[in-house]
Amino acid sequence: MEGLRSLPSIDKLLQQSRSDSLISIFGRPLVVRALREILNTIRLEYHPSTAKAIPSDNSILDQAESLLFKYTQTSLKPVINATGVVLHTNLGRALLSKEAMDAMLSVGGNYSTLEFDPTTGKRGSRLVHAEDILRTLLGVEAALVVNNNASAVLLVLSALAYRRKVIIPRSQLVEIGGGFRVPDVMKQSGAKLVEIGTTNQVHLSDYQEALQEPTAIVMRAHRSNFQIIGFTSEPTIREIIDTTHQAGVLFMDDLGSGALLNTDHYGLAHEPTVQESLEDGADLVCFSGDKLLGGPQAGIIVGKKNLIARIQKHPLARAVRADKFCLAALSATLLHYLKDEAEEKIPTWQMISVKEEALKSRVEGWIKIIGQGEIMKGTSTIGGGSLPGETLDTWLLGLEGNNPDQFLDRLRSQEPAIIGRIENDMILLDPRTVPMEQEKYFLDGLLKSLQKK
Ligand SMILES: *Cc1c(COP(=O)(O)O)cnc(C)c1O
Repeated sequence: MEGLRSLPSIDKLLQQSRSDSLISIFGRPLVVRALREILNTIRLEYHPSTAKAIPSDNSILDQAESLLFKYTQTSLKPVINATGVVLHTNLGRALLSKEAMDAMLSVGGNYSTLEFDPTTGKRGSRLVHAEDILRTLLGVEAALVVNNNASAVLLVLSALAYRRKVIIPRSQLVEIGGGFRVPDVMKQSGAKLVEIGTTNQVHLSDYQEALQEPTAIVMRAHRSNFQIIGFTSEPTIREIIDTTHQAGVLFMDDLGSGALLNTDHYGLAHEPTVQESLEDGADLVCFSGDKLLGGPQAGIIVGKKNLIARIQKHPLARAVRADKFCLAALSATLLHYLKDEAEEKIPTWQMISVKEEALKSRVEGWIKIIGQGEIMKGTSTIGGGSLPGETLDTWLLGLEGNNPDQFLDRLRSQEPAIIGRIENDMILLDPRTVPMEQEKYFLDGLLKSLQKK
């Protein structure tokens, strides 16, 4: 064991001046931990017969430094989304407006009125914050904001349909992705699922027949991420709601995306809006905060006051409640709608409404800077469980190479990572989803990826 005896001690390594600078960046305990781990590995791997030299102090400190960077790396960090998928679920769905981000920062770094009423000096309720704006904006009696839309649906069913029947057409027993399956959520809530109709057809008489039995809720789950085409039919939502109400039963609409603006104004198919559901008479409407609404992750339940009051009292409501960041960002996002400035201020709607000409000139600018690639016509998609099959015309930067997969890897290895796509062996980068503030980093990363060839 002659060799191992020359291994420096942790104390000796800590006395080196390089350790001082590591300690100032990472703190002493973590530096000690890194050194211990490196020394242990050297001991374990050492074998006299291989006569491998014991590394120098400097080399041990090098290894410790890389280990320290590894320890302190966070895995959740910004990326550049050049895929053209506006609400990319894996990349975090909606981007927040500047106002919404400011609102989050402000409640994060300061005490707030989260559950405090400054007029009385007494305890207040966190439920009021976004609720007031939702009431004004949508004309609803009441609103409740929870963690996400999946929990909103689970909560409503648990509170109002436990051990009771819930009617839903077979064509709506959907899986949204990420494990949200409507039938499973119903089972979890304790509701009894009553399937009606067939995969492609459901008639008003199917509802009427099922409503002969005592029922808690008739539910609609929006087909957010697929279409059924061909020999299909279903009654209008108003017909269904009227039939439901005639039987004295509640109607709940799980809209998923919950658009507040009309998507058909932007060359897209019509995504059912929250306002339409309410106008048609839905007693409760549930939708996500971070899909087409363009806000933070949230589940929003709006509708009748007596129902929301019952939902709020259910123990699950506490378990899935919204946090202060969500409430702050959601309120700021909803204010954009109230002030009729959603299209200008909310990134999701900026991306949807941006003019093709603007996209074209951005790609032209990119080509000038990187000195290669071609401008191509293509399509962007909405994604995130909204408007399945719908696309927006866009302009793309197309890059040819003999190994597109490898180039995509190189783009992803940049800081921040650039996420693109491949079609017909070409790398395609879509300016629609690259915010102007990120353009500099995008071009830097792109240039670096091209040089490394
Ligand atoms: C997206 C979606 C959900 C789940 O919403 P989250 O906010 O992601 O939890 C539920 N129902 C429908 C119809 C959806 O489209």
